[in-house]
Amino acid sequence: MKILTVALQKDGKLVSASFELIEAAKSLGGELFSVVMAENASSLAGELSSRGGGKVLAVSHPQLKYFNDEIYVKALAKIIEKYTPDVVMGPASFYGKALFARLAALLKSPMASDVTAINLDGDDVVVTRPNYGGSVLSRLKSNKQDRPFLMTVRMKIYPESKEGNGEIVEETLDDSVYESKMIIKEMKTESAGSLNLTEADIIVSAGRGMKGAEHLPLVKDLADALGAAFGASRAIVDAGWISYSHQVGQTGKTVNPKLYIAVGISGAIQHLVGMRTSKTIVAINKDKDAPIFNIANYGIIADAFDIVPALTKKFKAELQG
Ligand SMILES: Cc1cc2nc3c(=O)[nH]c(=O)nc-3n(C[C@H](O)[C@H](O)[C@H](O)COP(=O)(O)OP(=O)(O)OC[C@H]3O[C@@H](n4cnc5c(N)ncnc54)[C@H](O)[C@@H]3O)c2cc1C
Repeated sequence: MKILTVALQKDGKLVSASFELIEAAKSLGGELFSVVMAENASSLAGELSSRGGGKVLAVSHPQLKYFNDEIYVKALAKIIEKYTPDVVMGPASFYGKALFARLAALLKSPMASDVTAINLDGDDVVVTRPNYGGSVLSRLKSNKQDRPFLMTVRMKIYPESKEGNGEIVEETLDDSVYESKMIIKEMKTESAGSLNLTEADIIVSAGRGMKGAEHLPLVKDLADALGAAFGASRAIVDAGWISYSHQVGQTGKTVNPKLYIAVGISGAIQHLVGMRTSKTIVAINKDKDAPIFNIANYGIIADAFDIVPALTKKFKAELQG
């Protein structure tokens, strides 16, 4: 079986999910390929190859500097046509999902989004993905004749591949690939300087229980003490206390950290959808009946205004000396 992983880069650096995909692909066995598209893809390809990316296809062009799904999908389709993989994997990030939805439409291929487990059943690939906000897990099977099977894999499910060997192949594609109605001149990251939610191992999120934007620094301090990313419920995004880039949930980001601390968040289903697969969930809420406690591994029934500064002080003392 041939497996192609699609490594994505941002600001000329590979996103960590690229290495998780390699690990996911290795779990299936077979012949591994990775592709990276960038303005200068060679050094990124070198990194992928030294971390077990198999045959790494480097596609370089100035038009690939920024993510442009119109161009990226055409480049990827050319690579797939040439190498005929059975399985193509990308990260279930905003960019990955945008790209793979287009790719599935272009190739008329089966597609599974936000996959949380990948297995083999004979020659068939069987994936698991959550439905209805994670209340139901469905298993989807792709038969041999339905190839390539496209999938985006939820981030932080597989560990990053750390080492291995590979071979780099520079790919040159037709100029027609790089024609686009869209010209991207610049990309600005709204949350520049803060940790990326979807890549973070620890997330501390705040909800309406914090009463007002002026109190959010209390929760931010806790996040900083833990080296965590800062998340939010939609209620406080809608209220204008914090920008949308921090929102976790159905209409925000899906996260899967090792530790998720929810402060003053009730646990509405639309929030849980985005964080319920976190390995350990700690909920801080003064209402003992808050639904968040139904999925929390540890619950602290307390006033956030008392407990959060106390925790921050303790973690600062323990972790920062
Ligand atoms: C189509 C749709 C999509 C949605 N998408 C999302 C989404 O992506 N993400 C999302 O989060 N929501 C989403 N929502 C909104 C969701 O339904 C909830 O309204 C929202 O999650 C509630 O946010 P919250 O928990 O911060 O606020 P609340 O539900 O008001 O909860 C506040 C909590 O704080 C506790 N509290 C109050 N004071 C304190 C204190 N001093 N100390 C400790 N605890 C305290 C309260 O007991 C309460 O449990 C969506 C809704 C719809 C309809």
